[in-house]
Amino acid sequence: MSHVFPRHTKSVLPVAASGDGAYLIDDQGKRYLDCGDAAVSCLGHSNPAVIAAVQAQVEKIAFAHTGFMTSQPAEALADLLIEHAPGDLDRVYFVSGGSEATEAAIKLARQYYMEIGQPERCHVIARRQSYHGNTLGALSAGGNAWRRAQFAPLLVDMTHIAPCYEYAEKAEGECSFDYGQRVANELETEILRVGPEKVMAFMAEPVVGATLGAVPSVDGYYKRIREICDQYGVLLILDEVMCGMGRTGHLFACDHDGVVPDILCIAKGLGAGYQPIGAMLCSARIYAAIRDGSGFFQHGHTYVGHPVATAAALAVVTELTTRDLPARAAQMGEKLQSALEAALGQHPNVGDIRGRGLFRGIELVADRDSKTPLDPALGTAAKVKKAALAQGLICYPMSGTRDGKQGDHILLAPPFIIEDDQIDELVTKLTAALTEVL
Ligand code: PLP
Repeated sequence: MSHVFPRHTKSVLPVAASGDGAYLIDDQGKRYLDCGDAAVSCLGHSNPAVIAAVQAQVEKIAFAHTGFMTSQPAEALADLLIEHAPGDLDRVYFVSGGSEATEAAIKLARQYYMEIGQPERCHVIARRQSYHGNTLGALSAGGNAWRRAQFAPLLVDMTHIAPCYEYAEKAEGECSFDYGQRVANELETEILRVGPEKVMAFMAEPVVGATLGAVPSVDGYYKRIREICDQYGVLLILDEVMCGMGRTGHLFACDHDGVVPDILCIAKGLGAGYQPIGAMLCSARIYAAIRDGSGFFQHGHTYVGHPVATAAALAVVTELTTRDLPARAAQMGEKLQSALEAALGQHPNVGDIRGRGLFRGIELVADRDSKTPLDPALGTAAKVKKAALAQGLICYPMSGTRDGKQGDHILLAPPFIIEDDQIDELVTKLTAALTEVL
């Protein structure tokens, strides 16, 4: 009998025993094409450069607390990230995962305004149908009704505007650009409602992952968001925990939108699963406020800047940049999109196939014409996950929420090393799973 406390207490899961490129292999020898382990495995499961970096680092020094010492891999990784980061992002604060990154971003925004003498600024605006992590601050920013519901009494008061979700929410006859401007302008309305002097930050994902299924914004949306943030002195926090690190075809997803955030959160693909690591990048202006003010960021966990985690991530980012893997993600992503459209584009329960790079989403609907979501009580996405697993495919489905605003979808996030025949395998197995369930 297992003593592990699993996420799902009513199902028995396979035991992961080894990895081989794009595949996970269980203890019975069954191979699973890994296209959705929450968008972590960007390099696949047996990258020799990352394995060697972890081994070498653990032999040198496994841990040194950042309250006392910095480390060579943390310094080198920060340099490499800043070399490729957009705009004036200038400093990197390392954490152990995505929730820690967004939580730290919220704290940094607050401390920034304390340091510069605007203590009344403490309100965060985020978007509905979003996910920014599971710690209480991050969950407060998240706008997914189901994830928030049971913890609602513990959450901080943050407010939420509409996401940019063209497929479901663009009005009849409205063009994409106008739709984007309309929903971006909701930010201005909300800032004015709360009081500009009280708002410290707006947080959003450039491409929405877990909660909507690879939904990018329309052209012009983020440019307008940036303008509004600048006009009212509100910090723009972009959460690229899932969509960042090359997945959308750019090392940083916001490069596609041509905007530079004040604070940028990354995780998942940063360690590619070889070590748990996340990071928060911030602008020179924010860093300077702390450096020239109190001189101490009042936030931290024991494992921030962990030497082995930063060594692994240094090897990962070196692989991503020297092999130009974001460009490969863009190219293979186009192939995946075409293959999905060919196989599933006419399926009566497939409403939309979308995404950027190797970050694709399939929206499942009860009716294509009216875009009516499937009844969430049917648990269709969860059934597809199970059927796909039986086929030897790992994908990332998400069931709709009962507020009727969010339908079922399947998120696909294959490793950037995926080959043409593996794209065929992915589409064949997914089609079989969908046919079994719908
Ligand atoms: N932000 C986004 C956009 C995410 O998708 C996730 C996780 O899926 C998180 C934050 C939280 O990351 P973690 O699970 O590493 O804490």
